[in-house]
Amino acid sequence: MSLRTHRQAIIEQARITSQEYTLQAPLKERTWFKVGGKADLLIHTQEHTKIARVMALAHQYAVPLFFLGDGSNLVISDEGIEGIVIDTQALSAHQTPTRLTNDRIKAPAGILMEQLVLWSVEQQLEGLTPFYGLPGTLGGALFMNARCYDAEMADILVDITILNERGEREVIPFKPEQWEYKVSPLQHRLALVIEATLSLKASTQSIEALRQHAQSFKDDRTQKGHFAYPCGGSTFKNNRAFGKPSGQIIDGCSLKGYAIGGASVSQFHANIVINQNNAKASEIYQLVAHIKDEVLRQTGHMLEPEVLFVGRNFPLL
Ligand SMILES: Cc1cc2nc3c(=O)[nH]c(=O)nc-3n(C[C@H](O)[C@H](O)[C@H](O)COP(=O)(O)OP(=O)(O)OC[C@H]3O[C@@H](n4cnc5c(N)ncnc54)[C@H](O)[C@@H]3O)c2cc1C
Repeated sequence: MSLRTHRQAIIEQARITSQEYTLQAPLKERTWFKVGGKADLLIHTQEHTKIARVMALAHQYAVPLFFLGDGSNLVISDEGIEGIVIDTQALSAHQTPTRLTNDRIKAPAGILMEQLVLWSVEQQLEGLTPFYGLPGTLGGALFMNARCYDAEMADILVDITILNERGEREVIPFKPEQWEYKVSPLQHRLALVIEATLSLKASTQSIEALRQHAQSFKDDRTQKGHFAYPCGGSTFKNNRAFGKPSGQIIDGCSLKGYAIGGASVSQFHANIVINQNNAKASEIYQLVAHIKDEVLRQTGHMLEPEVLFVGRNFPLL
């Protein structure tokens, strides 16, 4: 059976209705870089049972699956993504966070981090405020172990509920040894995060003070130019062994402003590649490869990309 036939079988057997999927779905506007082609099949249902069935069938027919959060850490190939893309924001569309105890909350994976932070502030809880201004969803932040202003997701995580590659529900308790700087256990398996329990702190500060504190982090990002151009945040991870942040290393190699097509190394932060002028994903890829090669040639340091290159015909960087 061809991929196309498998796809049709999955739609029918999971009982996905016509409003719940799009064939050849454009993804460009679903990414912060504003690049990328189409998903062969994008599923945007809110029903977890249907997604569980899709995952089981995709596993059975060996059809590739990809989970799309808010697309803030992705460069999606100009040739699109093969197989099935699951829209995690749609899956959480009608779910809201809940307070389990004085200091524990449960939140749906597709919620935007900004919404989650504001909700926690309304609950007079501390622990999420440094993440205000972080683009993306809770699921993406957990997958990436996002880090903002010295706080990382692993610091507040209790457990994650996933659908595994066969579509079965599993609860993964937080184990510190599995989490490192920008590393999570989710990166080593096919697992769709559907919700997570987080441990926060009941605050003695007023809601207004917490809101202002959260806003100060977003203001700092705005002032640093994070939102000035389409981008994916930091292009490369930092590596302590190199003695300097990646941005300084790249700047030291005189790469600020270097451009390939519409993609360039931003003038305001050398570790941020921006889509300055209608860049293609292939131009971002070539630029990131060039920075990596040039830094290696000039300093001997091998930078590791943090942005993820997803979809057809992206050789490993
Ligand atoms: C302007 C800007 C500033 C940024 N600043 C920071 C920063 O300070 N710190 C930082 O760490 N990052 C930063 N980033 C990067 C990005 O915001 C984070 O990596 C974010 O957590 C990604 O979330 P997302 O929902 O957009 O995930 P996506 O980009 O959609 O996906 C990223 C990965 O997560 C996976 N994923 C998403 N949702 C799920 C799910 N429910 N289940 C399983 N896997 C899932 C995807 O499959 C993919 O592999 C920045 C990006 C931008 C554009």
